Amino acid sequence: MTISNIIFIIVFLGALAFFGFKVKQIIANIKLGKAENRFDRKSERLKTMLRVALGQSKMRARPIAAILHMFIYVAFMITQIELIEIIIDGATGSHRIFQPMLGGLYTFTISLIEVLSLLALVATIAFLSRRNLIKLPRFVKSEMNGWPKLDGNIILYLEFVLVICIFTMNGADEVLHVRSGHESYGFAISSWMGPMFFGGMETTTLIILERVGWWGHIIMVLTFLCYLPFSKHLHIIWAFPNTYFSKLRPMGQFTNMESVTNEVKLMMDPNADPYAVPAVDPDAVPQKFGAKDVEDLSWVNILNAYTCTECGRCTSECPANITGKKLSPRKIMMDVRDRAEEVGAGKRKEGDKFNDGKSLLGDFITEEEIWACTSCNACVQACPVNIDPLEIIMDLRRYLVMEESKMPSELATMNTNIENNQAPWQFSPSDRFKWKDEA
Ligand code: SF4
Ligand code: SF4
Repeated sequence: MTISNIIFIIVFLGALAFFGFKVKQIIANIKLGKAENRFDRKSERLKTMLRVALGQSKMRARPIAAILHMFIYVAFMITQIELIEIIIDGATGSHRIFQPMLGGLYTFTISLIEVLSLLALVATIAFLSRRNLIKLPRFVKSEMNGWPKLDGNIILYLEFVLVICIFTMNGADEVLHVRSGHESYGFAISSWMGPMFFGGMETTTLIILERVGWWGHIIMVLTFLCYLPFSKHLHIIWAFPNTYFSKLRPMGQFTNMESVTNEVKLMMDPNADPYAVPAVDPDAVPQKFGAKDVEDLSWVNILNAYTCTECGRCTSECPANITGKKLSPRKIMMDVRDRAEEVGAGKRKEGDKFNDGKSLLGDFITEEEIWACTSCNACVQACPVNIDPLEIIMDLRRYLVMEESKMPSELATMNTNIENNQAPWQFSPSDRFKWKDEA
Protein backbone atom coordinates (compact mmCIF):
# COMPACT_ATOMS: atom_id res chain seq x y z
CA MET A 1 0.00 0.00 0.00
CA THR A 2 1.46 3.35 -1.03
CA ILE A 3 1.36 6.64 0.87
CA SER A 4 -1.12 7.87 -1.76
CA ASN A 5 -3.53 4.99 -0.88
CA ILE A 6 -3.23 5.78 2.83
CA ILE A 7 -3.95 9.48 2.25
CA PHE A 8 -6.93 8.52 0.11
CA ILE A 9 -8.39 6.19 2.75
CA ILE A 10 -7.96 8.83 5.49
CA VAL A 11 -9.56 11.61 3.38
CA PHE A 12 -12.39 9.34 2.24
CA LEU A 13 -13.27 7.99 5.68
CA GLY A 14 -12.89 11.47 7.22
CA ALA A 15 -15.39 12.91 4.72
CA LEU A 16 -17.85 10.05 5.29
CA ALA A 17 -17.61 10.46 9.08
CA PHE A 18 -18.18 14.22 8.85
CA PHE A 19 -21.18 13.74 6.59
CA GLY A 20 -22.66 11.12 8.93
CA PHE A 21 -22.10 13.39 11.93
CA LYS A 22 -23.89 16.36 10.27
CA VAL A 23 -26.79 14.21 9.02
CA LYS A 24 -27.26 12.88 12.56
CA GLN A 25 -27.55 16.47 13.80
CA ILE A 26 -30.13 17.26 11.13
CA ILE A 27 -32.18 14.18 12.04
CA ALA A 28 -32.09 15.37 15.68
CA ASN A 29 -33.32 18.80 14.51
CA ILE A 30 -36.18 17.18 12.57
CA LYS A 31 -37.11 15.26 15.71
CA LEU A 32 -37.56 18.58 17.55
CA GLY A 33 -41.02 18.56 15.94
CA LYS A 34 -44.11 17.00 17.48
CA ALA A 35 -45.06 13.40 16.74
CA GLU A 36 -47.34 12.79 13.77
CA ASN A 37 -48.29 9.43 12.31
CA ARG A 38 -47.23 9.28 8.68
CA PHE A 39 -46.43 5.60 8.72
CA ASP A 40 -49.81 4.39 7.39
CA ARG A 41 -50.83 3.48 3.78
CA LYS A 42 -47.34 2.25 2.98
CA SER A 43 -47.90 1.17 -0.65
CA GLU A 44 -49.56 4.50 -1.50
CA ARG A 45 -46.62 6.32 0.07
CA LEU A 46 -44.11 4.21 -1.82
CA LYS A 47 -45.87 4.96 -5.11
CA THR A 48 -45.87 8.69 -4.33
CA MET A 49 -42.14 8.59 -3.60
CA LEU A 50 -41.33 6.68 -6.79
CA ARG A 51 -43.50 8.99 -8.89
CA VAL A 52 -42.52 12.36 -7.40
CA ALA A 53 -38.93 11.88 -6.15
CA LEU A 54 -37.54 9.24 -8.48
CA GLY A 55 -39.75 10.01 -11.51
CA GLN A 56 -39.66 13.80 -10.91
CA SER A 57 -43.29 13.96 -12.08
CA LYS A 58 -43.96 17.46 -10.73
CA MET A 59 -40.93 18.91 -12.51
CA ARG A 60 -42.72 18.48 -15.85
CA ALA A 61 -44.80 21.60 -15.28
CA ARG A 62 -41.76 23.55 -16.57
CA PRO A 63 -40.39 21.29 -19.35
CA ILE A 64 -37.08 23.06 -20.15
CA ALA A 65 -36.01 23.21 -16.52
CA ALA A 66 -37.21 19.60 -16.13
CA ILE A 67 -35.00 18.37 -19.00
CA LEU A 68 -31.93 20.27 -17.76
CA HIS A 69 -32.50 19.05 -14.22
CA MET A 70 -32.91 15.50 -15.55
CA PHE A 71 -29.45 15.68 -17.22
CA ILE A 72 -27.81 16.54 -13.90
CA TYR A 73 -29.93 14.06 -11.94
CA VAL A 74 -29.31 11.06 -14.25
CA ALA A 75 -25.60 11.96 -14.62
CA PHE A 76 -25.34 12.08 -10.81
CA MET A 77 -26.96 8.64 -10.46
CA ILE A 78 -24.94 6.88 -13.19
CA THR A 79 -21.62 8.50 -12.21
CA GLN A 80 -21.82 6.63 -8.90
CA ILE A 81 -20.72 3.50 -10.82
CA GLU A 82 -17.46 5.19 -11.84
CA LEU A 83 -17.14 6.51 -8.32
CA ILE A 84 -17.16 2.97 -6.89
CA GLU A 85 -14.25 2.14 -9.20
CA ILE A 86 -12.38 5.28 -8.17
CA ILE A 87 -12.82 4.41 -4.49
CA ILE A 88 -11.52 0.85 -5.01
CA ASP A 89 -8.62 2.13 -7.14
CA GLY A 90 -7.81 4.80 -4.55
CA ALA A 91 -7.79 2.35 -1.65
CA THR A 92 -5.95 -0.54 -3.34
CA GLY A 93 -3.70 1.18 -5.87
CA SER A 94 -5.33 -0.58 -8.86
CA HIS A 95 -6.06 1.28 -12.09
CA ARG A 96 -9.52 0.98 -13.68
CA ILE A 97 -10.16 -2.24 -11.81
CA PHE A 98 -13.48 -2.93 -13.58
CA GLN A 99 -12.12 -2.62 -17.14
CA PRO A 100 -10.63 -6.12 -17.54
CA MET A 101 -13.61 -7.67 -15.73
CA LEU A 102 -16.38 -5.99 -17.71
CA GLY A 103 -14.78 -5.48 -21.16
CA GLY A 104 -17.34 -4.04 -23.61
CA LEU A 105 -19.84 -3.31 -20.85
CA TYR A 106 -17.20 -1.14 -19.18
CA THR A 107 -16.63 0.85 -22.38
CA PHE A 108 -20.40 1.31 -22.71
CA THR A 109 -20.83 2.41 -19.07
CA ILE A 110 -17.99 4.94 -19.13
CA SER A 111 -19.20 6.22 -22.52
CA LEU A 112 -22.69 6.69 -21.06
CA ILE A 113 -21.20 8.54 -18.08
CA GLU A 114 -19.25 10.80 -20.43
CA VAL A 115 -22.30 11.66 -22.56
CA LEU A 116 -24.38 12.35 -19.46
CA SER A 117 -21.54 14.40 -17.94
CA LEU A 118 -21.41 16.53 -21.08
CA LEU A 119 -25.18 17.07 -20.91
CA ALA A 120 -24.82 17.88 -17.19
CA LEU A 121 -22.16 20.44 -18.12
CA VAL A 122 -24.58 22.09 -20.56
CA ALA A 123 -27.31 22.08 -17.88
CA THR A 124 -24.90 23.53 -15.30
CA ILE A 125 -24.00 26.42 -17.61
CA ALA A 126 -27.71 27.01 -18.32
CA PHE A 127 -28.53 27.01 -14.59
CA LEU A 128 -25.65 29.40 -13.82
CA SER A 129 -26.85 31.75 -16.58
CA ARG A 130 -30.43 31.56 -15.34
CA ARG A 131 -29.34 32.70 -11.88
CA ASN A 132 -26.63 35.21 -12.77
CA LEU A 133 -27.21 36.53 -16.29
CA ILE A 134 -30.91 36.18 -17.10
CA LYS A 135 -31.77 36.68 -13.41
CA LEU A 136 -35.04 34.77 -13.49
CA PRO A 137 -37.47 36.64 -11.15
CA ARG A 138 -37.93 33.68 -8.79
CA PHE A 139 -34.16 33.55 -8.16
CA VAL A 140 -33.76 37.22 -7.30
CA LYS A 141 -36.46 37.64 -4.64
CA SER A 142 -35.30 39.26 -1.40
CA GLU A 143 -35.05 35.95 0.54
CA MET A 144 -32.45 34.79 -2.01
CA ASN A 145 -29.95 37.54 -1.16
CA GLY A 146 -26.68 36.58 0.50
CA TRP A 147 -26.03 32.95 1.43
CA PRO A 148 -28.93 31.33 -0.54
CA LYS A 149 -27.65 32.91 -3.77
CA LEU A 150 -24.05 31.93 -3.04
CA ASP A 151 -25.14 28.39 -2.10
CA GLY A 152 -27.00 27.98 -5.41
CA ASN A 153 -23.88 29.07 -7.31
CA ILE A 154 -21.28 27.13 -5.26
CA ILE A 155 -22.85 23.79 -6.06
CA LEU A 156 -23.01 24.62 -9.77
CA TYR A 157 -19.32 25.62 -9.76
CA LEU A 158 -18.46 22.33 -8.01
CA GLU A 159 -20.41 20.41 -10.67
CA PHE A 160 -18.61 22.33 -13.41
CA VAL A 161 -15.15 21.54 -11.99
CA LEU A 162 -16.16 17.91 -11.38
CA VAL A 163 -17.12 17.35 -15.03
CA ILE A 164 -13.91 19.02 -16.25
CA CYS A 165 -11.93 16.70 -13.94
CA ILE A 166 -13.70 13.62 -15.36
CA PHE A 167 -12.77 14.59 -18.94
CA THR A 168 -9.20 15.55 -17.98
CA MET A 169 -8.71 12.23 -16.20
CA ASN A 170 -10.20 10.10 -18.99
CA GLY A 171 -8.61 12.14 -21.82
CA ALA A 172 -5.06 12.03 -20.40
CA ASP A 173 -5.49 8.36 -19.49
CA GLU A 174 -6.57 7.54 -23.07
CA VAL A 175 -3.37 9.05 -24.51
CA LEU A 176 -1.19 7.27 -21.91
CA HIS A 177 -3.02 3.99 -22.54
CA VAL A 178 -2.44 4.09 -26.30
CA ARG A 179 1.13 5.36 -25.87
CA SER A 180 1.96 2.33 -23.72
CA GLY A 181 0.98 -0.01 -26.59
CA HIS A 182 -2.68 -0.76 -25.73
CA GLU A 183 -5.73 -0.32 -27.91
CA SER A 184 -7.88 2.77 -27.38
CA TYR A 185 -10.38 2.52 -24.49
CA GLY A 186 -13.06 3.46 -27.04
CA PHE A 187 -14.88 5.89 -24.72
CA ALA A 188 -17.50 8.04 -26.44
CA ILE A 189 -15.90 11.44 -25.82
CA SER A 190 -12.50 11.23 -24.14
CA SER A 191 -11.12 8.74 -26.68
CA TRP A 192 -11.18 11.41 -29.38
CA MET A 193 -11.07 14.50 -27.21
CA GLY A 194 -8.03 13.24 -25.23
CA PRO A 195 -5.69 12.83 -28.22
CA MET A 196 -6.99 16.12 -29.66
CA PHE A 197 -6.14 18.20 -26.56
CA PHE A 198 -3.38 16.20 -24.88
CA GLY A 199 -1.83 14.20 -27.79
CA GLY A 200 1.23 16.48 -28.11
CA MET A 201 2.14 16.47 -24.40
CA GLU A 202 5.09 14.75 -22.69
CA THR A 203 4.30 11.48 -20.92
CA THR A 204 5.31 12.95 -17.53
CA THR A 205 2.93 15.86 -18.04
CA LEU A 206 0.15 13.43 -18.98
CA ILE A 207 0.71 11.35 -15.84
CA ILE A 208 0.45 14.52 -13.72
CA LEU A 209 -2.66 15.61 -15.64
CA GLU A 210 -4.35 12.23 -15.18
CA ARG A 211 -3.61 12.32 -11.45
CA VAL A 212 -4.86 15.92 -11.18
CA GLY A 213 -8.11 14.84 -12.91
CA TRP A 214 -8.41 11.73 -10.70
CA TRP A 215 -7.77 13.52 -7.40
CA GLY A 216 -9.79 16.54 -8.56
CA HIS A 217 -12.74 14.25 -9.27
CA ILE A 218 -12.69 12.50 -5.91
CA ILE A 219 -11.96 15.72 -3.98
CA MET A 220 -14.92 17.44 -5.66
CA VAL A 221 -17.16 14.49 -4.76
CA LEU A 222 -16.00 14.50 -1.13
CA THR A 223 -16.23 18.30 -0.91
CA PHE A 224 -19.78 18.00 -2.25
CA LEU A 225 -20.52 15.36 0.39
CA CYS A 226 -19.24 17.52 3.26
CA TYR A 227 -20.93 20.61 1.89
CA LEU A 228 -24.35 18.98 1.38
CA PRO A 229 -25.53 19.23 5.01
CA PHE A 230 -25.10 23.03 4.85
CA SER A 231 -26.81 23.40 1.51
CA LYS A 232 -30.25 23.31 -0.06
CA HIS A 233 -28.82 20.53 -2.22
CA LEU A 234 -29.51 18.14 0.61
CA HIS A 235 -32.78 17.68 -1.24
CA ILE A 236 -31.07 14.98 -3.31
CA ILE A 237 -31.38 12.84 -0.19
CA TRP A 238 -34.38 14.24 1.71
CA ALA A 239 -36.62 14.34 -1.38
CA PHE A 240 -37.14 10.58 -0.97
CA PRO A 241 -38.30 10.44 2.67
CA ASN A 242 -40.10 13.76 2.24
CA THR A 243 -42.27 12.50 -0.61
CA TYR A 244 -42.79 9.18 1.17
CA PHE A 245 -44.11 10.93 4.28
CA SER A 246 -45.99 13.65 2.39
CA LYS A 247 -49.65 14.37 3.10
CA LEU A 248 -52.05 11.89 1.51
CA ARG A 249 -55.30 13.59 2.52
CA PRO A 250 -56.88 16.00 -0.02
CA MET A 251 -54.96 19.26 -0.37
CA GLY A 252 -57.71 21.51 0.96
CA GLN A 253 -58.51 19.39 4.01
CA PHE A 254 -57.27 20.91 7.25
CA THR A 255 -56.65 19.10 10.49
CA ASN A 256 -59.12 19.59 13.33
CA MET A 257 -58.49 19.55 17.05
CA GLU A 258 -60.79 17.17 18.89
CA SER A 259 -61.36 19.50 21.84
CA VAL A 260 -62.29 22.40 19.55
CA THR A 261 -64.47 20.21 17.33
CA ASN A 262 -66.52 19.14 20.36
CA GLU A 263 -66.97 22.77 21.42
CA VAL A 264 -68.20 23.70 17.95
CA LYS A 265 -70.57 20.73 17.80
CA LEU A 266 -72.08 21.80 21.10
CA MET A 267 -72.48 25.36 19.92
CA MET A 268 -74.03 24.43 16.59
CA ASP A 269 -76.55 21.96 17.98
CA PRO A 270 -79.17 23.73 20.13
CA ASN A 271 -80.48 20.36 21.45
CA ALA A 272 -77.08 19.07 22.45
CA ASP A 273 -76.65 18.02 26.04
CA PRO A 274 -73.21 19.21 27.11
CA TYR A 275 -73.03 16.42 29.69
CA ALA A 276 -73.77 13.77 27.07
CA VAL A 277 -70.73 14.68 25.03
CA PRO A 278 -67.93 12.24 25.78
CA ALA A 279 -65.32 13.79 27.99
CA VAL A 280 -62.19 14.82 26.18
CA ASP A 281 -59.17 12.80 27.14
CA PRO A 282 -57.00 15.26 29.12
CA ASP A 283 -53.91 13.86 27.39
CA ALA A 284 -55.46 14.67 24.00
CA VAL A 285 -55.87 18.34 24.90
CA PRO A 286 -52.87 20.14 23.40
CA GLN A 287 -50.55 22.08 25.68
CA LYS A 288 -50.67 24.88 23.19
CA PHE A 289 -52.97 25.59 20.26
CA GLY A 290 -51.13 26.03 16.99
CA ALA A 291 -47.43 26.77 16.63
CA LYS A 292 -45.25 29.57 17.88
CA ASP A 293 -41.88 27.92 17.42
CA VAL A 294 -40.42 24.95 15.55
CA GLU A 295 -41.04 22.58 18.45
CA ASP A 296 -44.78 23.21 18.09
CA LEU A 297 -44.68 22.10 14.45
CA SER A 298 -44.73 18.44 13.45
CA TRP A 299 -41.54 16.60 12.48
CA VAL A 300 -42.93 16.41 8.92
CA ASN A 301 -43.02 20.23 8.72
CA ILE A 302 -39.34 20.37 9.71
CA LEU A 303 -38.44 17.56 7.29
CA ASN A 304 -40.22 19.66 4.62
CA ALA A 305 -38.00 22.61 5.51
CA TYR A 306 -34.79 20.60 5.17
CA THR A 307 -35.99 19.25 1.81
CA CYS A 308 -36.74 22.66 0.30
CA THR A 309 -34.66 23.19 -2.85
CA GLU A 310 -35.28 26.98 -2.75
CA CYS A 311 -36.45 26.68 -6.37
CA GLY A 312 -39.11 29.35 -5.78
CA ARG A 313 -41.82 27.60 -7.81
CA CYS A 314 -44.17 28.02 -4.84
CA THR A 315 -43.46 31.73 -4.53
CA SER A 316 -43.82 32.31 -8.27
CA GLU A 317 -47.35 30.79 -8.12
CA CYS A 318 -48.39 32.42 -4.83
CA PRO A 319 -51.17 34.98 -5.46
CA ALA A 320 -50.19 36.92 -2.34
CA ASN A 321 -46.59 37.25 -3.53
CA ILE A 322 -47.61 38.02 -7.12
CA THR A 323 -49.80 40.89 -5.91
CA GLY A 324 -46.95 42.41 -3.91
CA LYS A 325 -47.75 41.12 -0.41
CA LYS A 326 -44.91 40.32 1.94
CA LEU A 327 -45.56 36.56 1.90
CA SER A 328 -43.24 34.09 0.16
CA PRO A 329 -43.89 30.39 0.88
CA ARG A 330 -40.25 29.66 0.03
CA LYS A 331 -39.15 32.06 2.77
CA ILE A 332 -41.49 30.34 5.24
CA MET A 333 -39.67 27.05 4.58
CA MET A 334 -36.23 28.68 4.77
CA ASP A 335 -37.16 30.33 8.08
CA VAL A 336 -38.35 27.05 9.58
CA ARG A 337 -35.05 25.39 8.60
CA ASP A 338 -32.96 28.28 9.96
CA ARG A 339 -34.86 28.28 13.24
CA ALA A 340 -34.61 24.46 13.54
CA GLU A 341 -30.84 24.79 13.07
CA GLU A 342 -30.70 27.49 15.76
CA VAL A 343 -32.82 25.59 18.31
CA GLY A 344 -31.04 22.30 17.54
CA ALA A 345 -27.60 23.86 18.07
CA GLY A 346 -28.80 25.56 21.28
CA LYS A 347 -30.20 22.33 22.70
CA ARG A 348 -27.04 20.41 21.90
CA LYS A 349 -25.08 23.03 23.79
CA GLU A 350 -27.35 23.86 26.72
CA GLY A 351 -29.73 20.91 26.86
CA ASP A 352 -33.51 21.22 27.30
CA LYS A 353 -33.17 24.42 29.32
CA PHE A 354 -32.12 26.25 26.13
CA ASN A 355 -34.10 29.45 25.71
CA ASP A 356 -32.81 32.26 23.54
CA GLY A 357 -35.96 34.32 23.96
CA LYS A 358 -36.69 34.04 20.27
CA SER A 359 -39.38 32.20 18.34
CA LEU A 360 -40.23 31.29 14.76
CA LEU A 361 -43.29 33.51 14.85
CA GLY A 362 -42.18 37.07 15.41
CA ASP A 363 -38.40 36.75 15.01
CA PHE A 364 -38.40 34.91 11.68
CA ILE A 365 -41.93 35.04 10.28
CA THR A 366 -44.09 38.09 10.81
CA GLU A 367 -47.83 38.28 11.38
CA GLU A 368 -48.13 40.32 8.20
CA GLU A 369 -46.73 37.40 6.20
CA ILE A 370 -49.04 34.74 7.56
CA TRP A 371 -52.20 36.85 7.27
CA ALA A 372 -51.39 37.55 3.60
CA CYS A 373 -52.01 33.87 2.77
CA THR A 374 -55.25 33.11 0.91
CA SER A 375 -54.93 29.37 1.74
CA CYS A 376 -55.27 28.61 -1.97
CA ASN A 377 -52.78 25.69 -1.96
CA ALA A 378 -51.04 26.91 -5.14
CA CYS A 379 -47.68 26.58 -3.37
CA VAL A 380 -48.41 22.99 -2.35
CA GLN A 381 -49.48 22.13 -5.89
CA ALA A 382 -46.35 23.75 -7.41
CA CYS A 383 -43.74 22.18 -5.14
CA PRO A 384 -41.72 19.52 -6.98
CA VAL A 385 -40.97 17.63 -3.75
CA ASN A 386 -44.42 17.74 -2.09
CA ILE A 387 -43.66 20.39 0.53
CA ASP A 388 -46.62 21.97 2.31
CA PRO A 389 -45.92 25.58 3.44
CA LEU A 390 -49.64 26.16 4.04
CA GLU A 391 -49.80 23.66 6.91
CA ILE A 392 -47.14 25.70 8.74
CA ILE A 393 -48.86 29.02 7.99
CA MET A 394 -52.14 27.64 9.32
CA ASP A 395 -50.53 26.43 12.55
CA LEU A 396 -48.90 29.82 13.11
CA ARG A 397 -52.26 31.52 12.57
CA ARG A 398 -53.94 29.04 14.88
CA TYR A 399 -51.51 30.04 17.62
CA LEU A 400 -52.16 33.75 17.12
CA VAL A 401 -55.94 33.36 17.15
CA MET A 402 -56.35 30.75 19.85
CA GLU A 403 -53.52 31.62 22.22
CA GLU A 404 -53.17 35.36 21.79
CA SER A 405 -56.58 36.33 20.37
CA LYS A 406 -54.74 38.27 17.70
CA MET A 407 -56.20 38.54 14.24
CA PRO A 408 -57.05 41.19 11.64
CA SER A 409 -60.10 43.29 12.62
CA GLU A 410 -62.23 41.84 9.80
CA LEU A 411 -61.73 38.36 11.22
CA ALA A 412 -62.33 39.51 14.78
CA THR A 413 -65.74 40.90 13.78
CA MET A 414 -66.60 37.72 11.93
CA ASN A 415 -65.58 35.52 14.85
CA THR A 416 -67.62 37.59 17.30
CA ASN A 417 -70.62 37.25 15.00
CA ILE A 418 -70.20 33.49 14.75
CA GLU A 419 -69.95 33.28 18.52
CA ASN A 420 -72.99 35.46 19.19
CA ASN A 421 -75.16 34.89 16.11
CA GLN A 422 -73.97 31.47 14.88
CA ALA A 423 -73.37 33.15 11.52
CA PRO A 424 -70.71 35.53 10.16
CA TRP A 425 -73.22 38.40 9.86
CA GLN A 426 -74.36 40.98 12.39
CA PHE A 427 -77.94 39.73 12.63
CA SER A 428 -79.55 37.95 15.50
CA PRO A 429 -80.49 34.32 14.74
CA SER A 430 -84.13 35.24 15.42
CA ASP A 431 -83.99 37.74 12.54
CA ARG A 432 -82.67 35.17 10.11
CA PHE A 433 -85.92 34.80 8.16
CA LYS A 434 -86.90 38.47 8.19
CA TRP A 435 -85.93 38.78 4.53
CA LYS A 436 -88.94 36.50 3.80
CA ASP A 437 -91.38 38.99 5.37
CA GLU A 438 -89.77 41.92 3.58
CA ALA A 439 -89.77 40.16 0.21
S1 SF4 B 1 -51.62 28.86 0.15
FE1 SF4 B 1 -50.89 30.85 0.88
S2 SF4 B 1 -48.67 30.74 0.68
FE2 SF4 B 1 -49.51 29.10 -0.57
S3 SF4 B 1 -49.72 29.96 -2.61
FE3 SF4 B 1 -51.67 30.27 -1.62
S4 SF4 B 1 -51.52 32.31 -0.71
FE4 SF4 B 1 -49.43 31.68 -1.20
S1 SF4 C 1 -41.24 24.80 -0.97
FE1 SF4 C 1 -41.05 23.52 -2.80
S2 SF4 C 1 -41.55 24.91 -4.48
FE2 SF4 C 1 -41.11 26.16 -2.72
S3 SF4 C 1 -38.96 26.69 -2.91
FE3 SF4 C 1 -39.08 24.88 -1.61
S4 SF4 C 1 -38.87 23.16 -3.00
FE4 SF4 C 1 -39.31 24.93 -4.28
